[in-house]
Amino acid sequence: MSYPAPLEALIDAFERFPGIGRRSAERMAFFVLRDPKTRELPGLLRDALERTLRCRVCGNVGASAPCSLCADERRDARRVLVVEEPRDVEAVERSGVHQGRYFVLMGALNPATGHDERSLNLDALIERAARGEYDEVILGTDPDAEGEATATLVLRALEKSGARVRVTRLARGLPAGSALEYLHRGILEDAMNGRVELRMRKPD
Ligand SMILES: [Zn+2]
Repeated sequence: MSYPAPLEALIDAFERFPGIGRRSAERMAFFVLRDPKTRELPGLLRDALERTLRCRVCGNVGASAPCSLCADERRDARRVLVVEEPRDVEAVERSGVHQGRYFVLMGALNPATGHDERSLNLDALIERAARGEYDEVILGTDPDAEGEATATLVLRALEKSGARVRVTRLARGLPAGSALEYLHRGILEDAMNGRVELRMRKPD
């Protein structure tokens, strides 16, 4: 037996969400049918899509472009923290351990999900580093396998560009396999203060 086509389409749509399998997608779709409040969802979706802007400078989401962090003159524009997701920016901002700028890659390398180099927002960072806009690029990708692979990718791209910049990685004291967004202030502070400089290889 199959569901009516519109319901099936909704289940398919939910199933595309990260971490949502067929059964969860079905539960979500039936919840939509049952709960009168979900009638507000189309409007909420439209608002989020239309009124959330991507910052041209850092790739982060915001209500303005450039975002409030890039527009803030008091922040150190020559020190940039590279993170995977906008929610990492939120976590670091809550902790108050970084007063520089951010650069949001919008993901990490992940062969399982097909996330490769081309799907990351990397070019603008490398171009700016090559133009000498930064004194320091801090690699703040997650301390898991994907995050490490992504940090290495950024380092290699910086090397290839010939950028003359200090590249650092957040300290290894971070719990392995964790995600930046879940770390509390003390751990983030230690990771920032104990960040290590990575050696750049000379471009061939
Ligand atoms: Zn920005």
